[in-house]
Order: sequence, then structure tokens, then C-alpha cells
Amino acid sequence: MALRTADQYREGLKDNRKIVMLGNTVEDVTEDPYLKVGVETAAFDFLMGHDPEMQEISVMKDPETGEDISTYFEIPDTPEHVHKRYNLVQSACHYADGALPFVKDVGTDIMNGLLAVARIMGNKTYERRINDYRKYCAQKDLSMCGVVTDVKGDRSKSPSQQESPDYYLRVVDETEDEIVVSGAKAHITASAYTDEMIVIPTRNLSESEAEYAVAFAIPVDTKGVIQICRPSFRYEDKSHFPTPRPKRGHVEALVIFDNVRVPKERVFLLREWQFAQYAAYAFTAFHRFTAVTYKIPIIEYFTGVGMLAADANGIQKASHVREQFVRMINYIETVKALAEAAMVEPENLGDSGLYVANRLRSNMAKLYFASNFHEFIRDIQDLAGGLVVTQPSYPDWQRDDLRPYLERYMGGAGNYTAEERLKLMSMLHHLVASDFAGWHEVCTIHAEGSFAAQKMMLMAEAPMEMYKERAKALLGLNV
Ligand SMILES: Cc1cc2nc3c(=O)[nH]c(=O)nc-3n(C[C@H](O)[C@H](O)[C@H](O)COP(=O)(O)OP(=O)(O)OC[C@H]3O[C@@H](n4cnc5c(N)ncnc54)[C@H](O)[C@@H]3O)c2cc1C
Repeated sequence: MALRTADQYREGLKDNRKIVMLGNTVEDVTEDPYLKVGVETAAFDFLMGHDPEMQEISVMKDPETGEDISTYFEIPDTPEHVHKRYNLVQSACHYADGALPFVKDVGTDIMNGLLAVARIMGNKTYERRINDYRKYCAQKDLSMCGVVTDVKGDRSKSPSQQESPDYYLRVVDETEDEIVVSGAKAHITASAYTDEMIVIPTRNLSESEAEYAVAFAIPVDTKGVIQICRPSFRYEDKSHFPTPRPKRGHVEALVIFDNVRVPKERVFLLREWQFAQYAAYAFTAFHRFTAVTYKIPIIEYFTGVGMLAADANGIQKASHVREQFVRMINYIETVKALAEAAMVEPENLGDSGLYVANRLRSNMAKLYFASNFHEFIRDIQDLAGGLVVTQPSYPDWQRDDLRPYLERYMGGAGNYTAEERLKLMSMLHHLVASDFAGWHEVCTIHAEGSFAAQKMMLMAEAPMEMYKERAKALLGLNV
């Protein structure tokens, strides 16, 4: 099958998936007012493949069939792949109006991680299965979500120490051809509107926890999979001032696995508890770089809107405002510099023959991004003024009896009319003062791993012995 169109992607979502939103069963995710935001954001991954201006970056030839497939599926077996991925993810973000389409990157980051694990284990069966699965997804041009984070119960306890055995997903039965799994995974992005889900363990495990060491892939509409989604903003947005394109974003779900049967052909780890941690680790080695890559267009966009607010308020030349601009520029350019530095020395992950961006620098980029985002938002809120939370809505503007007042009182500096200034403030409300803005702040901290996860990686990857050896040599210490 050739690359699918966005319509074919949408049609493919009309299956037997079990999706709940606000207590209601969703019959068609493409029409649900909340899920549609995610569906239409994800659809850009399919639009790209048919847009001549994007094809160079988003389409490649299948090495076996010669057919067009998405470049997301390329095996990262050269150092140059890291640059290609950077360009692909950033271009996809710009193309999708500033949001990452998100339905091929995380899935292929997991496939790459699992391939690395299979090679490091020397397990040829798993290597063949993951390669077959990659070809299957590439040739059918499927979308995927990454299902990693368990619900975890008491964080201070491992799976076997928990009060309930259900706080981590596990194997509950096995036949010759299938395994049966039960459990729940939390916060899963885009799972309601992808074709496939790829599941891996989230942590290290001990020998007595072998049943929790399982990785597999299934279609989203597999029997026993139930998704409880949280609402974000609606696709049809009546209160904000209209913009030429709808707002973009994603929806997460709590994904429940109630005795789900998985054919063994789609199992990539089964009870090899020694490799559970490495599966999570190898995935993050790929995905943390994806994460910092897609954050860059987002903060550039936020900065642009914040700077326009300063113009509209006539404060752009004030010294304290210039100070805020400097902080915003410093923030963007430092994240960008760290992400680009991570590309300079790609690493052959565990000698698997698969290349990742430099792990120390990817983690530094993510940590720097997450540690400074809230201050960045605070500066934009300050520049914008209180209107971001108190402004009249678009329906007020549309009333003939009110508009003359708003035109009279809501004008801004320079060429900004009242309508343009209100439109800008309306977008700023969405970005820095809405439910979505709160989601962004939490997403910044936790998605792709919270602070402690990056700090652990910094400690693991930094050349601390080298630092000490150099100091010892200077001091003449023989300790
Ligand atoms: C918007 C969003 C999208 C996401 N998308 C996905 C997705 O697509 N797929 C997916 O698999 N996951 C996804 N995640 C999950 C994300 O990876 C987790 O939120 C993150 O790993 C933190 O886990 P948690 O939310 O359970 O928080 P916790 O792990 O409970 O963290 C809360 C605090 O507890 C601390 N803590 C945790 N464990 C310990 C411990 N043992 N000892 C001491 N302190 C501890 C943490 O450091 C943190 O400070 C997403 C999250 C968000 C917010």
C-alpha cells in the first residue's frame, strides 16, 4: 500500500475501539469535539507525504518494495540519521501549525529502542519480529502511540512490593501462540486516534517480577483495551477570536488492558526481566531527543506571540521589557544550542548499530527546557497584561451593540486595531492562561520523563571520572 492520505487515516479510525470521553462512549473519534483536535493535528503526518514541498524530508523508498513510505520508519543505522530526524520532526511541527503530529515519532522511537534491545540481547527472534512489525507499519502507513508509563501505585515500591499486583502491566496467562496481559498505562498521548499501540515496561525489574517484563504491539481496537480520555479544548472554538487555522493539540488517555490477548509474533520481550530497564532506557535515548526537537518550534511561536503583545501594548522599547526579551531569546537559543550540540557526536547505542543523539546533551536540553519554561511563561503573562484573563470574548465582539464600545476602548499601540489586539490577547489566553496552558506547564515537566529522570541520565552519562582525573593530575594526587 502506498502512503495513506489524511482521509484514509481518518477512515481507518472508524473501527471497534473502546473510547470514553467525559463519561460518554465515543462512537467516532473523528467527530468527537475534543478528540477531533488530536485527529486533525495527527492528520498532518499524512498530509506531509502528499505535499510536494514536504516529500523530500518526509518520504523515502521502501528498501524492499521500492514503494514510498514515511521516513519515520527509516532504521537509524548511520550517524547522519540523527540530523535527518531533527529536520523531520521540526518540519512536521512547523507544518502542523506549531504542534507535533505525534503519531509516528514516538512509535518509531520505541521500535528503534526495541531493535537495539533485541540486538544487545542477541535475540534473533525478537529482532526479526520487530523488523517485520516495522515493515508492516511502514507498508500499511499506520500511526502508532507509545505506551510506557504504568499507573505505579506507591512510587517507593517495585511491582512485586505493591499492595495490588495491578499497578504495573503484566502477563497473566500464556498459550502456545499468545500471551494474555492485564494492567493499565497512564497519560498515553494520541492513543485514541492511532492505529497501533506499542507497549514496553517503564522501569527496572527483579527476577521475581519477570511477569512484568513484557513488550508488545497490538491494534488499538483489540478486545479488552478500554481508553478513558481527558477533555482539552474543543475543535469548534466559539469563544476565542477566530484564526485562519484551528488550534492544534493532543489528548491523553488512561489505557486499560483487561485480559488482552497478544499474538506471539507481536511480542518483543517476554519475562527477560534483566532487559526491562534497558528497554525503557533505549526508548528514552531516542525519544528525549525527539522531545527537545519538537519543543523548539513551540517556544519560538510562544515568543513571537509574546513579542507581538509587547508591540500591541506599546512597551517594546521599555528597558524591563527588553530584559524580558533577552531572557526569552536566551531560553530559546540555549535549548536550540543544546539540541544541536546533541547532534554533533551521535552515539552507537550499546553497540547495537543504531545511532542516537548524544545522550548527555539531549538530557541537558530537556532539563534546561523544563526547568525554565514556567519563568518563560511568566514573562509572557507579564508582557500581555491582565487582559489575557479578563478580555471580552468573541461572541461579545460580534454583537452590534457592543462592538463600537470595544472598538473605542480596546485599541492598542501603533497600527493595532481593537480587533487585532483582542485577537492577540485571545490567542495568548489560550497559550498562557487557559486549561491548555496549565496542561503545557505540566507536560513540560513530566512528558518524556520528569526532572529526576533527566538528572539520573546526567549522572549516568557525564564523564565524572575524567573531571576527577584531570583535577588529580593538576594537584599531583595519587588517590
Ligand atoms: C502531557 C503528557 C503526555 C504524556 N504522554 C505519554 C505517552 O504518550 N506515553 C507514555 O507512556 N507516557 C506519557 N506520559 C507520562 C510521563 O512520561 C510521566 O508523566 C512521567 O514519566 C512521570 O510519571 P508520573 O506522571 O507517574 O509521575 P511520578 O513518577 O509519580 O512523579 C511525581 C514525582 O514523584 C517523583 N518520584 C517518582 N518515583 C519516585 C521514586 N521511586 N522515588 C522518589 N521520587 C519519585 C518524581 O521524580 C516526581 O517528582 C505523558 C505525560 C504527560 C504529562
